[in-house]
Amino acid sequence: MRKHDWQPLEYRTFKHKNPKMEFFCPLCSTKRVFNSTPRLSFKNYCQMTLTTLLVGGAFFPIMGLRSFFVFFIFWAGFEAAVRMNFRKEVPCPHCGFDASWYKRDVTVARKKVKDFWDKGNSEEESDSSEEVSPEVMAQQNQENTEQQANY
Ligand SMILES: [Zn+2]
Repeated sequence: MRKHDWQPLEYRTFKHKNPKMEFFCPLCSTKRVFNSTPRLSFKNYCQMTLTTLLVGGAFFPIMGLRSFFVFFIFWAGFEAAVRMNFRKEVPCPHCGFDASWYKRDVTVARKKVKDFWDKGNSEEESDSSEEVSPEVMAQQNQENTEQQANY
């Protein structure tokens, strides 16, 4: 790709160590990386096995070999956690484009991009005003964490 053909929103992005996947944002063509994958790693399987041995061993006197079926409960839990972690990385930090929503519902994806830009503008305005009371700051922080929790 020639340099002048590529016009991303952000040329200089953060450098990431050992990215799992490198790609360009389809909306703003900024270079993006994923640090996590939606799949369980070898390390996760080791952790699952260890916790199963520990918990299964603890319940073994009562339930016998059936206690080791907790492995499947841990498996489901790990699977859900890894997926949730990956989902948090999907939206583009530069333009708000969310590929996972784009696949499911384009109108929602479009709304998310619009919200992202509306939010960015209002934050810039509040930055220019000199005095921001701590209560307002705390409230904004709370709102931010709530929004993150929704993901
Ligand atoms: Zn983007």
